[in-house]
Formats: sequence, structure tokens, C-alpha cells
Amino acid sequence: MSEYRERREKLWEKVRAQGVDAFLLVNVEGSEQPNLRYLTGFTGTFGILIVAEETLFLTDPRYTEQAKNQVDLEVLEVRGRWIPQVIMRLRELGVKRVGIGSTRTTLYLFEELKKAGEGLEFVPIGAPVEELRRVKSEEEIEKIKEAVELTEAGLQWILGKIKPGMREREVALELEFWYRKEGADDVAFDLIVAAGPQSAMPHHRAGEYLLKKGEIVLFDIGARVDGYCADLTRTVALGEPDKEAKEAYKLVLRANEAGIQAIKAGVSGKDVDAKARKILEEAGLGEHFGHGLGHGVGLEVHEGPRLSATSEDILVLGNVVTVEPGVYFPGKFGIRIEDLVVVSEDGARVLSAFPKDELIVVGRR
Ligand code: ZN
Ligand code: ZN
Repeated sequence: MSEYRERREKLWEKVRAQGVDAFLLVNVEGSEQPNLRYLTGFTGTFGILIVAEETLFLTDPRYTEQAKNQVDLEVLEVRGRWIPQVIMRLRELGVKRVGIGSTRTTLYLFEELKKAGEGLEFVPIGAPVEELRRVKSEEEIEKIKEAVELTEAGLQWILGKIKPGMREREVALELEFWYRKEGADDVAFDLIVAAGPQSAMPHHRAGEYLLKKGEIVLFDIGARVDGYCADLTRTVALGEPDKEAKEAYKLVLRANEAGIQAIKAGVSGKDVDAKARKILEEAGLGEHFGHGLGHGVGLEVHEGPRLSATSEDILVLGNVVTVEPGVYFPGKFGIRIEDLVVVSEDGARVLSAFPKDELIVVGRR
């Protein structure tokens, strides 16, 4: 049985238990793309999947050929308005209660379906596909590992190139170009290159700031390979950093290690966050760590489960999560260290291998 078919069967069991007799997944402009890809392998932007006793896949003429190559289901072509055709298929299948994901379906689509589907009941049923996606197979972990390795090779390459006077945006673009040239589908998110005081903003976008000697450069980067994302942060210094930055780095590293140590199946995302946070709090830096400790990564860079003070997630085998504590001093600098780990039989298996034991100093000459 193909992995896609296996996933669809799991989904079918899951949604049926919620009292519906079909699950409708509509990807017409991209919001459901990761879910559709997960269930069918289809990488296009227009695809509709009906999972029921019988499973149907529909696309439009732009994607018919592609779908025939990628999808292990009969490809039904829709021309013109698609909503009435989907309703017709649902009626043919004899279903009454149609489950639909709540997190990515727009209210507009929901209303349109209800209007067109007299006699059918559309029921929001949470995020069943995202829930399945949290647990990665060995094949998926292998793909993430490939993305991590490419991400690290790129970081190694760019660290040999950066020098004072370069613009953050130039550094980020060179790195992105390198990833694509070396086989990445894409970058997993807009690469963050944050230098000096810019690094004090956790989600700064690479901008016009010029790299300066003696300042911090924070790289939060990830290539996407075969659909799967990497997410890695390393903070380096361009020339000898001041003592304050070195001290902060040591503490963030300890928090990162404590977080990784705490990871195992059965532990809550909240507890893992607390273990790492405690290190920074005890050093009086709790206030400077304003975000959660980590998040799941897979076909998307931000998925479940979450590691944070408010998370209700419990880790299970096969989760892939980041551990990324950071401290930020507005107007001065920020330090973050982010690794990607798999929740495995013997605790955390760390996928990222880029050196982190001390604040790396580049361009010392
Ligand atoms: Zn990141
Ligand atoms: Zn992250």
C-alpha cells in the first residue's frame, strides 16, 4: 500500500469516529497545499480530495497531467465552476454529513458550500490532517535530515563569505541563491539574517543594515528539500565580540541543552519549555526570553506540537520539533540557538550538527 493511501485510511478512520461520512479537503489557492500533498503527493495548487467509502481526487485542466503523474487515484477533471461539481460528487457518493477542516477553510467557502449543497450538512471537525502530520515516518525524518544538512552546508559556506560592510539582505539573498542552486525546492521561510541591534528582534527580516566588526550576526535559516523544511539558528560574532554577548551565549546554550535533555515521549510541551526557561530565569534573563521554546517542523516550518508555556501538547514518538531559546536586549543584540530534534525511543535525537559549543567568531583576520 502506498504511504499516501495509508495516510488516507488513517484519516478516514479518524474522521469517521467524529460522526461524518465524508471528509472534504479543498485546495483552490494554496492554503491546504501541505495537507493535500501529505495525503496524495500532489504538489499543484488546485486539488480537491473527497475521502469517504470511496476516495475521489479532482483537479482542473491546468493540473490534469501533473496529477496523473503524482497521484495514486483516478484524476477527475473539473471545468468551470467547481463547487456544483463537488456537490454533485458528494451526492453521488450518498453522503449526508461532510466533515471539513476548521483551520484553513474560509468562512466564505464554508457558506458557499452550504448554499450549494442543500440536503448536505457541512461539519467543521478541527484539524485532522495536521494531527496526523505531527508524527513523522522514518522516510519523512530522512527528508527533514536532508534539508538540515543542506541548510548547514549553506551556513558553513556563507560564514566564509561574510565581512563588515555587507548588507543583511545581500547575505540572505546569497544564501538563498546557494540553496536553490544546490538543489533546494525553495527556502522554508524568509531567511533571517540579523546583525548588531537588529538581532534583538526575534523575527527581524534581513534588511539594509550593514554588518559591522565586533557585532553579532544571527542566522535563522532553512532550506526546503522534497517538500520538507529545516529550521536552524546559529548566532555568530563578526570579529571579537564583547564579554556580555559571550556570557549571554553560554546561558542560551545551557537553556538549549536543557530543553533537548527534557525531550522524550510522554512529556508535555509546557514542561520542556519550563526546563529551558528556568535556566534563563535563574540567571535573571527570563524577561529577555519572550517567545516559546519550539514548534513542530515538517511540510511546513511551523506545525504542531508546540513547546511553550501555554502548550497543551504531549510529545509522542516521531514528533520533530525545534528547541530555540533566545535572549534579546533591545538596541544592543540578541542570541538564539535553534536545533531540530526527533522525539525517539531514547529521548531526543538531534538532527542538526552545526557546532554550537561556543560563540563562533568569523572573519577574525
Ligand atoms: Zn528558526
Ligand atoms: Zn523555529
